[in-house]
Order: sequence, then C-alpha cells, then structure tokens
Amino acid sequence: MTTTTDPLASRMRPFGTTIFAEMSALAVSTGAVNLGQGFPDTDGPPEMLAAAAEALRGGQNQYPPGPGIPALREAVAAHQRRFWGLDYDPGSEVLITAGATEAIAATILALCETGDEVICFEPYYDSYAASIALAGAVRRPVTLRPGSDGRYAFDPDELRAAFGPRTRLVLLNTPHNPTGKVFTADELALIATLCQEHDVCAVTDEVYEHLVFTDADAPHVPLATLPGMRERTLRISSAGKTFSCTGWKVGWVSGPAPLVSAVLRVKQFLTFVNAAPLQPAVAVALGLPDRYFTEFRDGMQSRRDQLLAGLTDAGFTVLPPEGTYFVTADVTALGGRDGIEFCRSLPARCGVVAVPTQVFYDDVEAGRRLVRFAFCKRPEVLAQAVDRLRRLTA
Ligand code: PMP
Ligand code: GLN
Repeated sequence: MTTTTDPLASRMRPFGTTIFAEMSALAVSTGAVNLGQGFPDTDGPPEMLAAAAEALRGGQNQYPPGPGIPALREAVAAHQRRFWGLDYDPGSEVLITAGATEAIAATILALCETGDEVICFEPYYDSYAASIALAGAVRRPVTLRPGSDGRYAFDPDELRAAFGPRTRLVLLNTPHNPTGKVFTADELALIATLCQEHDVCAVTDEVYEHLVFTDADAPHVPLATLPGMRERTLRISSAGKTFSCTGWKVGWVSGPAPLVSAVLRVKQFLTFVNAAPLQPAVAVALGLPDRYFTEFRDGMQSRRDQLLAGLTDAGFTVLPPEGTYFVTADVTALGGRDGIEFCRSLPARCGVVAVPTQVFYDDVEAGRRLVRFAFCKRPEVLAQAVDRLRRLTA
C-alpha cells in the first residue's frame, strides 16, 4: 500500500463522518443548543441505574454468554409478550446485541449475499446504508414524501416496483426516524403481503416502540404480529431510547430460531458479547410497571408539543410527528434552500444545532429543504432553543 492511495476499502468510500458526529462536534465547538443528535439530557429510571451499579460492584464484569444473560433474554421475551402479544422463546429466539446498530448490521451481514437487494424507506437511518454496503448488498429505497396533510407516506406502486428477483430483505423502521411517522395498518398490510408474495424476510427496527403519541392516527403495530409474518421477521429494539441510556448500547433481536441463530453467527465475530453489567440492569428496566412506559411517553409528548409550538412561532413549516424523539421541518419559509447549508450556518446565526435530513435520502431532492430537531431535552433547554430560533426572523 502506498501512502498516496486511500486506505479505505472502496465499499466504504461513499460514507464520510456521520451527520450526528459532525453536528454534535459543531454544537460543542460553537456552544450551540444541540437539538441534532437524538440523545436525552436526563437519566433513565433509578431502579435501572441502581441495578447497573450493583452488577458492576458485584463482579458481573466478565464475558456474558454469547446470546446474552438468561435474565435479560427472559425479560426481552416477557416484555414483547406483555406489550405486543408476541411469544419468543428466550432460549433460542432472542439475542442480545451491542445496541440496535449491531443487531441491524449483523442481520444484514448474516442474511445477504453479494448483490442481494434490501428495500428500505427513505429517509433512512444512516447505519442502514453503511451496513448494506458492508454486506456487498444493494439498497432499494422507497421514498416517504410529506403530503398536503403534512404526513409522510409512500406510493404503494413504488413499493411494489421495488420488489424483484434479488430482493432479500425489507428493512422497516416504525416509529420512523427522522420523520416521526408511525406506519398505518394498511401500509403494514401491504408490506406483509409483498414480503409473502416474494418470499422475502422483514427486519423491523422498533427502537421507538414506546414513543407513539396519544394523538397518533395509528397505534404502533409490530409487523411480526401480522398473519404470516412472525416466521419471516427479525424484530429489533434497544434499551437506549426507551430507558434514556443511549450510551449503554444494549439492543436485541427476536425472531424464529434459524434466523436468530444466523445473526448470532455474525455477531460473535463482531463484538462476541457486550455490556455484562448493564444487561441485568436492562432486564430490571424491561420489567418496570406499565406506568413507567406511559409516563415516559407523556413526558416526551409534552416536549414535542413545546417544540412544535416554538418552531411554528419561529417561522418553520413543521411536519408534526406521531412518534419518536424528532420533528422535521421545511426551511423554505425561512429563506432556506438547502438543509445542509441551513444547518451548518444555524449555530452561527442563532446558536442552535439541527440535522439536515437530505443526507438520509438517495433522492436528495426529496429531502433538500427538510431538517430534523430532537425534542428529547429538558423543557428549559427547548425553551432556550426556541428563544434563539426566533432570532432568525427578528
Ligand atoms: N435505529 C434507529 C431508527 C435509531 O434512531 C437509532 C438510534 N438510537 C438506532 C437504530 C440505534 O440504536 P442503538 O443506539 O441501540 O444502537
Ligand atoms: N439515533 C440517534 C439519532 O438519530 C443518534 C445515533 C448516532 O449518533 N449514531 O439522532
């Protein structure tokens, strides 16, 4: 290798530094309020934190079993039974991973041959494209576009046309980051029908499963609960969002034993195992009473309402989310023509960081003027951000 050639393998060259890292660094260097990267600024449930401290002091610091500690696998299975009526055998149908990110990567690497196609809805979470590329697979995006009612939807014909002889997986994220969309029963039914017609597996990223707001048109429905789907779906979630511990990176994947076992085959060579003392703590959190999950959602909904009102007042055209941590907005009314330019200049203009969502599209035009704000922040932080954003039109 000569020093003049790029040492990076060609399949990774299209991927620069993630937008989240870029924008968080910008927030630090400018002292701006960071509504870019989605992480809460408060800690998760005290019972969970106490259990982690106890495990750490109590010697649970060596390699846990490959699929995860039994207590956590049992808690993951019980949680899915309690909230979604889904039954998974903790012994063979649940695998603990280093966050949802590793679960997604290991799943794609495990199931895709070179040249296989993965259908995903754009804007897509950034790690999807990179994981698909690492597997030598090809992404087939289907675009979510805001309609006149402000809701993002896809064209069913575009989805039908995306299926072909090389389709291996459909990767579905609902509730959806960055749009805050919750896929409706009709949309899920179409996805399920097409998966079965084409004998394709589904991979569902449900990290925001507990963040669907009370005024959403549709409740959250795991695709695996639809007829004929459990046996072809790998369902992924993580502790990061539900328990406000994004730095812990404890996730899981559930599905039929042969599929989960394929994912484990890859996971064992990516990280082998992860987060020994955090695993028992997440097991405690998953077993918290329903009240925890309701209050968590209600708290986030009031923050959403606060930011929606503030952004509207500051002149943004907002696209109200039904779930997640995020709201997207069109910057055209504020004179913005390009979300990347808008977000790069925002800290200097008014001391706030947001994320341009065009980086999550192959069809850049579709997201050109859209930006995303995270509202998983304390009310006083949101109030300060809104005060600053008002300066844009003052
Ligand atoms: N998928 C989506 C849609 C996300 O927003 C995130 C960020 N939490 C992840 C996956 C990654 O989750 P984790 O931090 O558990 O790896
Ligand atoms: N999921 C978080 C978001 O969308 C950030 C994750 C990351 O920084 N990779 O903001």
